Amino acid sequence: MTQETLALHYGYEHDGFGTMAVPLYQTTAYDFGSAQKAANLFALKELGPIYTRLNNPTTDVFEARIAAVEGGEASLATASGQAAIFFAIANLAEAGDNILVARKIYGGSTTLLTHTLKRFGIQAKTFESDKADDLEALIDDKTKAIYFESLSNPQIAIPNIEKIVSIAQKHNIVSICDNTVATPILLQPLKLGVDVVVHSASKYITGQGLAIGGVIITRFGLNEKLIKNPLYPQFNEPDESYHGLVYADLPFPLFTLRARLSLLRDIGAVPSPFSSWLFIQGLETLSIRMKQHSSNAYKVAKYLKSHPKVKSVNYPGLEDDPQHDKAVKYFKDAQTSGLLSFEVEDFESAKNILDSTKIFAVVVNIGDSKSIITHPASTTHQQLSSEELEVADIPEGLIRLSIGLESSEDLIADLAQAIG
Ligand SMILES: *Cc1c(COP(=O)(O)O)cnc(C)c1O
Repeated sequence: MTQETLALHYGYEHDGFGTMAVPLYQTTAYDFGSAQKAANLFALKELGPIYTRLNNPTTDVFEARIAAVEGGEASLATASGQAAIFFAIANLAEAGDNILVARKIYGGSTTLLTHTLKRFGIQAKTFESDKADDLEALIDDKTKAIYFESLSNPQIAIPNIEKIVSIAQKHNIVSICDNTVATPILLQPLKLGVDVVVHSASKYITGQGLAIGGVIITRFGLNEKLIKNPLYPQFNEPDESYHGLVYADLPFPLFTLRARLSLLRDIGAVPSPFSSWLFIQGLETLSIRMKQHSSNAYKVAKYLKSHPKVKSVNYPGLEDDPQHDKAVKYFKDAQTSGLLSFEVEDFESAKNILDSTKIFAVVVNIGDSKSIITHPASTTHQQLSSEELEVADIPEGLIRLSIGLESSEDLIADLAQAIG
């Protein structure tokens, strides 16, 4: 079945009432009915709802559906994108280990992976994902994961996915790709050989800026990489916190199972059933939205490119963009989402444009159906000096747009009057 159909139907059989919409099971716990049933569930002899910190029937539908749309085998929903990233790494690495992290990624991921995890004893080494020429040399016998974004936020950079995947395969290391900006509609990393995908569901998946959430999705056959792999004893040796359970002995997708039974159980960053229900609504329209975001952004990018006061435009979907080859290679119909950036003369002109737009909201978010404008130099990267901004590839006059679902004519007219 195609993604469009899976996004509307997968993982839900109508209940006794024939309810068309997936029911919202807003509950903390479940009546087991008998002591034996309770014992079976706790011993993993049968699977089923135990307590909403571990699983929930509404969240189950979201998990099954997003896994199907992403082309994956199994998934685990979390309270935020940040929690999904943390669990994905914590499932693989421990104190004394290291992870390889692309330099061009989301700011929150950089602080989590390079600063916060350092205090847990996990060291991050950064690589340049555009070419990934420096990646292999960073690997040692303590390297447990390779982390990158398929379309990076906010740099809008497309990595050399093929090379990253082949190095991860050669060294038997798990690769993790944050697919938040591309979404499975435009790019399916698991089909390119990536092992684990993470998402912030807060962006395009919910689509209307309604809720914070995240999800981890794994590829078919990932078990083979984990079982008997000396890099990952946690899947192959008895888990003391689960009376000596050896995950590798179980007939289930192991990565999400362990993340659920050990990390979600203990750390508890679980989505509310209501958020999962909102993500299910978002998934239903994800494919038409991504096409519309992309075609709107393409038209806006083309307009900006022709404007005399615009120094440069960064949108890989444009035919003459330096990254267009990679957009064609990896992205469906070379459509690259609603994220674009452009540069004007200086700091002051950029600020004036932000203050003059009427439709665009000044917000630090992306993936909303409403258009958003941000000026990184005065907000997210305010603490950096002019020299530091240059190193970070953030010119003072850089403006980032998350193009929404308004008519492209209105968006272009708004930018035209604001740029002047
Ligand atoms: C927003 C974002 C995150 C973090 O997700 P939250 O849901 O806000 O925790 C991670 N990665 C990318 C690419 C993002 O845009």
